[in-house]
Amino acid sequence: MKVSREIQELVPYIPGKPIEETKREFNVNTVYKLASNENALGFSPKVKAALVAALDEIHRYPDPSCFKLLEAAQGHWGVERKYLAAGNGSNEIIDLLIRIYCEPGDAILVFEGAFIAYDICARAARVKPITVPLDQGLRMNLQRMGEVLREQKKSQKIRLVFIANPNNPTGVYIPKAEIQKFLAEFGSDDETLIIIDEAYAEFVRAEEKPSQVHHFLNYKNVAVIRTLSKAYGLAGLRVGILFAQTEVIDFFNRVRNPFNVNDLAQVAAIAALQDQSFVEQSAKAVWAGLDYLQQELKNLNLPVTPSQANFLFFDTLRDARAVNQALLRRGVILRPVVNYGFPTQMRMTVGTEVENKAAIKALKEVLKEIPS
Ligand SMILES: *Cc1c(COP(=O)(O)O)cnc(C)c1O
Repeated sequence: MKVSREIQELVPYIPGKPIEETKREFNVNTVYKLASNENALGFSPKVKAALVAALDEIHRYPDPSCFKLLEAAQGHWGVERKYLAAGNGSNEIIDLLIRIYCEPGDAILVFEGAFIAYDICARAARVKPITVPLDQGLRMNLQRMGEVLREQKKSQKIRLVFIANPNNPTGVYIPKAEIQKFLAEFGSDDETLIIIDEAYAEFVRAEEKPSQVHHFLNYKNVAVIRTLSKAYGLAGLRVGILFAQTEVIDFFNRVRNPFNVNDLAQVAAIAALQDQSFVEQSAKAVWAGLDYLQQELKNLNLPVTPSQANFLFFDTLRDARAVNQALLRRGVILRPVVNYGFPTQMRMTVGTEVENKAAIKALKEVLKEIPS
């Protein structure tokens, strides 16, 4: 049967290679996975207790309104529940916002090298991603984005702007003052919703924390997305939170599946939000790991991009696919980012001390094996 050109040209999302698959394919016993920006400390012990207690209820449908989860989110972020909705991971939120606001032929605006889910979800909805080039040092320049937005709007409908802050895979962030300047000009424009994806906000070490969670309501058309997959360590359960004006929340609730967030995910997310000491502990472990890895990569003379997230983006100065294969043979899974347009670079998630050391040891061997 015929499918549209956009669907035919879709390239599936490339996830981090699973641990078991790596063991089988490369015949290694020990595998260190630093490929998916998961939490090296796991998740809060309080989550486990809550999940065990909830297991007896899994024959019931989950709460379709996520009442208690959104109440916990309100308690943590101090944003009224009417401005909140939950998704099956941020990925579902991204997908649904595109389906809600874009018609085939419309466009979304993103930075070059942005989180690839925006691009995939847009194409799947026959929506065109328009990219804004990055500045030196992979910097996301909002002034430039504003220029492109003003110019492109003359000829096409740009319905959504996605800004990942900090961005994945680069780890680069946009300072608060720049965001607020951009939102002051575009944040209340009725034709375009600006979505700020703050998946890594908990790891930001910069003094000026750029989060817009407490500011989005100052604008008519700004939304924020947070996830429980990273600092909270619940990637396997799929929970994302959308912060937006009630009109956006209302449309989101009409379009989503009634039981989009499953029961165990809701229960775990509530317990996770209530254990902020685990999140703080995770951030501290990440910062120590970043300092270690950054120094080690510098010692290896590999250019590293300073990161405000729980991963590092660095240049192997070699074909990253070859480096990746050689690392896999040593049981180390990092993430090549060729699909983002970076042929020699890789992304490394901060792991435990043991994992970080193992990754650096393997990388040292591989760099000797593959000349630059
Ligand atoms: C990891 C990540 C997410 C989280 O996605 P989930 O679907 O919530 O697991 C969202 N945005 C960015 C930029 C990410 O890197």
